[in-house]
Amino acid sequence: MQTSRDTRDLWSARHRDCGADPTDLNLDLDLARFLCSTHAGHGPQCRQYLAAAAFCYGNTAR
Ligand SMILES: [Zn+2]
Repeated sequence: MQTSRDTRDLWSARHRDCGADPTDLNLDLDLARFLCSTHAGHGPQCRQYLAAAAFCYGNTAR
C-alpha cells in the first residue's frame, strides 16, 4: 500500500512531539514504520521512536 503525501504530512504534524506517546499506533503499521524513520537517532528520550520501534518489531519478529 502506498502512503499518500497528505497522509504523511498529517502524521508529521500529529507525531512531531518526541516527548508524547503516540496513541494511534496500533491502528497502522505504516505509521509505525514512518515514525521509525522520522524519529530515528533521537535517542532514548524520544517516545515516538520507542513506541514505533516496539510496534514494528512486534509485528515483524514473528
Ligand atoms: Zn523523536
